[in-house]
Amino acid sequence: MKQTKKLAAALLTVSMLAGLAACGPKEPKESEVQSQSYTGTAKGFGGDVSVTISVSEGKITGVTAEGKDETPDVGGKALETLTKKIEEAQSYEVDSVAGATITSNAVKEAAKAAMVEAGLVEAAAGAMKAGTYTHTYRGYCSDITVATTLSEDAITEVKIVSQDDTVGIGSYALERLPDAIVKEQTVYADTISGATATSNAIIAAVKDALNEAGADMSVFGREPEAEPAKDESYDTDVVVIGAGAAGLSAAVRACQNGANAIVVEKMDIPGGNTVRSSGVWNVHGPDQADIDEFIEYTMTGGHDLNNEDLVRVMVTNSSQIGPWLSELGFEVSEGGGSVKGLARGLITGYWDKLEELGGKILFATKAEEILMKDGAAAGIRCTSENGGTVTINAKAVIVAAGGFGYDLEKCYELKPSLTGMITNNQVGATGDGIYMAQAVGANVVDIEQIQAHPTVEQSTATLVTEGVRNAGGIMLNANGERFAGEVGYRDVVAAAILEQPGAYAYVVFNQDLYDSNGNIPTYDKVGIVAHCESTEEIAAYIGCDAQTVADSFEAWHTACENQSDPFEGGFTWTRDITTEGPWYVIKIAPGIHHTMGGIEINTETQVISTEGQPIPGLFAAGEVCGGVHGGNRVGGNALMDCQVFGIIAGDNAAAYCK
Ligand code: ADP
Repeated sequence: MKQTKKLAAALLTVSMLAGLAACGPKEPKESEVQSQSYTGTAKGFGGDVSVTISVSEGKITGVTAEGKDETPDVGGKALETLTKKIEEAQSYEVDSVAGATITSNAVKEAAKAAMVEAGLVEAAAGAMKAGTYTHTYRGYCSDITVATTLSEDAITEVKIVSQDDTVGIGSYALERLPDAIVKEQTVYADTISGATATSNAIIAAVKDALNEAGADMSVFGREPEAEPAKDESYDTDVVVIGAGAAGLSAAVRACQNGANAIVVEKMDIPGGNTVRSSGVWNVHGPDQADIDEFIEYTMTGGHDLNNEDLVRVMVTNSSQIGPWLSELGFEVSEGGGSVKGLARGLITGYWDKLEELGGKILFATKAEEILMKDGAAAGIRCTSENGGTVTINAKAVIVAAGGFGYDLEKCYELKPSLTGMITNNQVGATGDGIYMAQAVGANVVDIEQIQAHPTVEQSTATLVTEGVRNAGGIMLNANGERFAGEVGYRDVVAAAILEQPGAYAYVVFNQDLYDSNGNIPTYDKVGIVAHCESTEEIAAYIGCDAQTVADSFEAWHTACENQSDPFEGGFTWTRDITTEGPWYVIKIAPGIHHTMGGIEINTETQVISTEGQPIPGLFAAGEVCGGVHGGNRVGGNALMDCQVFGIIAGDNAAAYCK
């Protein structure tokens, strides 16, 4: 997206600062030799890295580097080490710091640019050394090897030689970026928002190839020409804001009912927070008693703040999602609570189906305003990536823009106890839908109800699904002790973890469990799973006493045998993970996950105004709505919520158009 490209544009922009000594208030003494400073900038791991060199009589007398967005422990160290090395060597051609290749390369590029400006080295000019250059960088959850073929004056091919990022959201970048780089002849042709890790890996590999070939990076690292802003307008029956599970299910359903539908999505890819989820949802059991029990479980979990009418509709209709998806051609799991390919399979399946039915998604199109005519919703106004206005005139509007869990400031302000916590939300989860609906009179409920998911790996913000604990995974604290019932309500488990030493814990499971859960291989590829052959190895990884882990295992084994746990939490006794290894350990702590509050809707998904009346033509579904989950969302209820109410919104919006 534009913003990302702008950052990239700073590559190799060189600015000469005024001679510092000459700028100072005091006159230089005769014995002082004047030095001049030159600054070069390049793109690092997190943002721009700039290097300033002081030059006196053709010699480098000082080097400083700044990169406030580099990881302090890794990139930050590289900045320090390399500036020293560059000054010592009087050259930018120094060894990189292991483990911080991207930051190191940026420091070297920036230093080179500063030296070119200072006249210490010649700018690379003329032909590149033609050939194919292969480099490997870490993507979202796997290494990505890229072969870049260069002629003397052009990038002729960028080929992904090997990768395993298809399970993640990064695959969209793998599909688009290589061709875009060749077409635009710059490494910064296109950064796919929402898939930055994969994009960055590809960019880094191509950049290495160009540098190795002696390319002029002011040509091949330039910002591509911005397209001129273009205004567009569309007419449709139903317009949907947001391409997550709620928006896409609503759009597909509207099309099935004979309406035309357009979905706008502000990111470059679909899926929102949905593709960050496990892709599994709850379905009620066969009897009315199961339905009632499930409703009660959801209400209790939500501290009885939920709107019970919404909960009843959600739970009762949960069993209809699976058969409907089957009809659409999805491969639905037994029980009807997931599809082949989990969350990503669900999103791509909906996307394909939508196009098949004549609907479409406009990407990089951000809804800004709901248009009203005679008191009824009549379309939306959006901005496109190139800054143009996209007006979509519609008979009905469905808001499905998700929650605001990425807006940390807002979360901390509304619930101060969360201050300092990370989020596992995607960057697009900023509450736009809530604010747009409010601007046309919608009522908002439970806005301060924000959920911390108990088990989020902190360095990658990867959510470790409840499925792992539901299937028998246990939690140990930093001392190697169990401390809470693993399958309690999310708020209860999160609070228990926060009381442990260091406010973190470990999820531990065995091979049998690993093999049973389709999300675990992805965690492993991301690199957050420790592999252990014994309780001693688990203890060594945790850094605690080995006997304590052995005792915890023994106690848990006894608990499983007796089906009796000293901790509360409603354990399901699915599996005793202590009996057979090898074992796996993931370090976790709570992270902001779901915003329960939002737009007030009724059971027909009509948006309710502050006056208590439905706003004609305006519907909402999914995380953007409040009231469904009360004060705490139960695990597995999100995709159920999105799809049940997405289906209702699609049906009702289509009917409203007629
Ligand atoms: P849900 O689970 O309710 O479907 P998701 O988070 O999965 O919610 O999807 C919501 C989608 O809405 C995300 O892809 C997000 O990027 C998108 N979105 C948020 N704000 C806007 C906006 N202003 N215009 C267009 N799309 C938006």
